Amino acid sequence: MAGAFDPVAPPLENGMPAVKEGDTSLRVGLGFDAHRFARRRPLVLGGVRVRERDGLLGHSDADVLAHAVMDALLGAAGLGDIGTLFPETDPELAGADSLGLLATVARLLAEQGWALINVDAVVICEEPRIAPYRAAMRARLAAAMGVGVDRVSLRGTTTEGLGFTGRGDGIAAQAVVLIGPAATEERP
Ligand code: MG
Repeated sequence: MAGAFDPVAPPLENGMPAVKEGDTSLRVGLGFDAHRFARRRPLVLGGVRVRERDGLLGHSDADVLAHAVMDALLGAAGLGDIGTLFPETDPELAGADSLGLLATVARLLAEQGWALINVDAVVICEEPRIAPYRAAMRARLAAAMGVGVDRVSLRGTTTEGLGFTGRGDGIAAQAVVLIGPAATEERP
């Protein structure tokens, strides 16, 4: 490691070092989702029922945060996307609990020999504030995926009035996940 932190350092002399042998099977995944507000629907975020009205429109419970996490997991494992796995035309999925869908995705990854290293997610909206629900959302998401809560990071942010979230038209969520090969003894 170099000495003191230099905020405007020149490029690395020999470029970024190569990934350590054996660690190259880690996979990163990115998920994004957005849903518009719907007055007569409950608001469910990260498996937490935040309020009974002014929720989000969607075929399932419209849990935009859980959906972003699911797509990140599926993307990391190269298993497609939630639209393919859980089609909006499937009547059985009407009003579905998205945490149950997330548990299904987690099971799918485990069956393919993948282990979740961590999730980092952001909910983008002017309201509600995420902070009061953060601990409960982390706990519920972690439980659905069968991992410790320390592996799930979450925060909310606004767009300072800009764009569709800024206008209060809906809520967006982004998630990144890192997965790696499961230890042999943990494979189902
Ligand atoms: Mg969605």
